[in-house]
Amino acid sequence: MNNSIYVYEGQLRELISNKNKDLVRGVAFEWKDEGVFHIHTKFPKVAPSGYPVISFFKIETEIGDFENSEVNFKEIVDSLPKSDLSSHKSVIGIFLYLDKEKLHQKAYIQTQNGVELCDVNYIPEKSELYSRCKGLLEVDILENKNVLIIGLGSFGSIIAVELAKAGIGSFTLVDFDRIELSNVSRHICGVNELGRLKTLAVRDSILVKNPFAKIETHEIDINDNRNILEQIIKDTDIVICATDNNRSRFNINEIAFQNNKTVLYGRAITRAEGGDIFKLNGQNPPCYCCLIGENNGMKYGGEEEITSIEQANSVLPSYTTPEQKDMAVQVGLSSDILPMCNLMVKLALVELSKGLNSGISSLENELTYNYYFWGNRREKNYLNYAPFNDSKGMPTILKWYGANIPKDSNCFLCSSNS
Ligand SMILES: [Zn+2]
Repeated sequence: MNNSIYVYEGQLRELISNKNKDLVRGVAFEWKDEGVFHIHTKFPKVAPSGYPVISFFKIETEIGDFENSEVNFKEIVDSLPKSDLSSHKSVIGIFLYLDKEKLHQKAYIQTQNGVELCDVNYIPEKSELYSRCKGLLEVDILENKNVLIIGLGSFGSIIAVELAKAGIGSFTLVDFDRIELSNVSRHICGVNELGRLKTLAVRDSILVKNPFAKIETHEIDINDNRNILEQIIKDTDIVICATDNNRSRFNINEIAFQNNKTVLYGRAITRAEGGDIFKLNGQNPPCYCCLIGENNGMKYGGEEEITSIEQANSVLPSYTTPEQKDMAVQVGLSSDILPMCNLMVKLALVELSKGLNSGISSLENELTYNYYFWGNRREKNYLNYAPFNDSKGMPTILKWYGANIPKDSNCFLCSSNS
């Protein structure tokens, strides 16, 4: 198999339109011993994968020169500084020639074995990247929708990337934490991103899926930055609330309610034995306060999953010992929280596609509840559920159930506003 080179179509187009006849140095990376190379005309927005390789582009204006590319390639390689050649195993050259109808290309690689021809593959421009979603989703419209994701832990990070894969083109990401070792087992980011701000690491995970996405990040605690929170909620089409504390959820609830914005609240409950999703439907009650009740009493669902010591500190009584707090941090499996992430993504896409004649519209008539719950295991809150294989029509784990939470007539927010 020939060596495979991947280049961005848009970058080549730009290079050709500049009519640059000089040698243009590329920025190239290889997967060692796999024969796969990615070559850019400028340093990529996302820190690249692979090991650096020397590369260049040459635009030929005469067909004769283009046909003679292999000889030219060897001459150019010989003229490169010897220090470059000694520190890199390979050199790649891409030769381009534009005739009246089409772009022709030839690519060569110089390795320790000599000069070899390479196959050139194009990474298309954005209109083609999500063509597979067309028919099911109105990708042209979703491309212009903004999703605000507050909290970029396991929920927020997974939802962000899934929405990017569906063709959402604009994101506002909010979190002030960094990626820690304890996050890795459930987060979209890996060990190679430890210590990075979650906002920037998740931004890069989105850009890998959709290099054309517009992404704004805020490394803030929303509880201390109400003005910013208000502005970004006003500017968005939908809010995904994936924070781990009720104070932030109440703040989001109040501002979103006042600004008539939809919020999807998702959470896992103790050790991700299950989870639930609540949808705040703009100014239509109930709101998140109606769901939770007075004194954070959790009227519906079970105890919230505690995933960090900071969260344990904020929700457990002050007399809890450090050992007890350690015990309280019980993290469920990634596969146990994926069902919640998955339904939140669908709810978001249905919401953003409302009124459009898209393939997902039929779900509008099905996902009509304001509250959804799911059990992963027949434990605690789900102890009374029937066995999955013998349910006889009774509720079981591993299935979604919907309910309509009523408005709380004493709710300070939605009762005083309506
Ligand atoms: Zn309310």
